[in-house]
Amino acid sequence: MSHNLFESFASRMQQRGDADFITTREGRRYSYADTLTESARLAGALTELGVSPGDRVAVQVDKSPEVILLYLACLRIGGVYLPLNTGYTFDEIRYFLGDAEPALFVCRPQVHEDARAIAAEAGCPAVETLGANADGSLLDKAARATPRNETVPREADDLAAILYTSGTTGRSKGAMLTHRNLASNAKTLVEAWRFEAEDRLIHALPIFHTHGLFVACNVSLMAGSSMLFLPRFDAEVILEEMPRGSVMMGVPTFYTRLVADERLTAERTANMRLFVSGSAPLTAETHEAFETRTGHAILERYGMTETNMNISNPYDGPRRAGTVGKPLPGVEIRITDRDTGEEVAEGEIGLLQVRGPNVFIGYWRMPEKTREELLEDGFFITGDLAMIDDHGYVQIVGRDKDLVISGGYNVYPKEVEQVIDELEGVQESAVIGLPHPDFGEGVTAAVVCEPGASLDEAQVLDHLQGRLAKYKQPKRVFFIDALPRNTMGKVQKNELRQRFDATYR
Ligand code: ATP
Ligand code: MG
Repeated sequence: MSHNLFESFASRMQQRGDADFITTREGRRYSYADTLTESARLAGALTELGVSPGDRVAVQVDKSPEVILLYLACLRIGGVYLPLNTGYTFDEIRYFLGDAEPALFVCRPQVHEDARAIAAEAGCPAVETLGANADGSLLDKAARATPRNETVPREADDLAAILYTSGTTGRSKGAMLTHRNLASNAKTLVEAWRFEAEDRLIHALPIFHTHGLFVACNVSLMAGSSMLFLPRFDAEVILEEMPRGSVMMGVPTFYTRLVADERLTAERTANMRLFVSGSAPLTAETHEAFETRTGHAILERYGMTETNMNISNPYDGPRRAGTVGKPLPGVEIRITDRDTGEEVAEGEIGLLQVRGPNVFIGYWRMPEKTREELLEDGFFITGDLAMIDDHGYVQIVGRDKDLVISGGYNVYPKEVEQVIDELEGVQESAVIGLPHPDFGEGVTAAVVCEPGASLDEAQVLDHLQGRLAKYKQPKRVFFIDALPRNTMGKVQKNELRQRFDATYR
């Protein structure tokens, strides 16, 4: 029996026929029937371009419904889909093409010439373009190709995709994801979040990360529901579309911006049944403000490139602010001491490990890194610190790499940030450790003031007196205009560490 993920989608596509799969505000529409037909044509084009089962297809193009057709075509022919962040520079692309050795690189039409040169240097044999109305693009080739209606059989453990991690803590790593990984996760999420064919998902995320691609698209395909594709987050557009939507998946910045918009009301969100947040921590403040304004408790969940989604607040039952909920069915977790590797006592902070059919099979061409993080018993060391609270819900405390060890004491940045953020006039903060001659690392805060507010270092330090133990208090406080964040709203602490590196040297 074949385990090609495409087959789980194809049966749904046939059933759903003329029902919407993806629509856009510009009036473009792909029904499920169109999706089957068009992905078969694209599959034909890929085959004619020499892509064989097991070959990687690297894709760096702007968001559009056609990208999802390409993803499906790639699965259909047994290829390995490899999406690349649209923000990567040519130097980065050269690295990724050299690392992944794809059989084909699909790029934006406007950079075709440069892309060809880079692909040639990296040894990639074919470059095609994908973009609206571009002559000679892959879509043109698909229109002329002989459609491939059959699906190439795959084993459950064959690769379906390689997805590079976000690169928050260092160079991005290629996570190898199998048909089993993606299928099991999509099935689990459809059930956990009660997806139905009638759902309409407002999709404003990028589609080169696990969140926008595998969570949003695979879940929709598995349920036979529809998506409204928006190029990016725009509060006005989203608020306008909410009366016609039922689900939104977003990152915390979506929600903080919506809460700041006075048009966010219970009436406007009355048709919506589910708001999901992930990729970065959602503050309790935003969670509560959103619920007060709309009556909807945001469902926060936790996941990563290597494991897809693994922990989620419940659909029914309390969604607790500041927590990511409980392991999804089939997922096991354990929390271990960062030094000894032993499981910690209940309620203590440690390294979060995850095991289940959702967990990837290793990093592409990084056997050592894989051995370090993917243990023999199948548990993956996520690199995040977590604890299980009194309700049995998981709280993500922060990244292990962001833990500050000052004078031998562990300082959890999130705890310090939360106290700083309570000070009137503070909008947000980030706490980092910097090399310090006496303490090893010096606790350091970068603070963003609310518009119009002004604070100085002494005021912040005064506020912390008596609220935090001395060793947790920052040795220096810097004021900055905004925290450096990537497109998913993740704070780039490496950038802050570099910027203030010389502070105590
Ligand atoms: P890299 O691994 O390259 O450093 P990255 O870890 O940011 O980058 P992703 O796989 O995109 O790459 O992100 C997964 C990480 O995002 C998790 O390990 C966790 O730190 C963070 N994350 C995801 N969801 C949540 C959440 N609900 N709360 C807090 N953190 C979250
Ligand atoms: Mg990571």
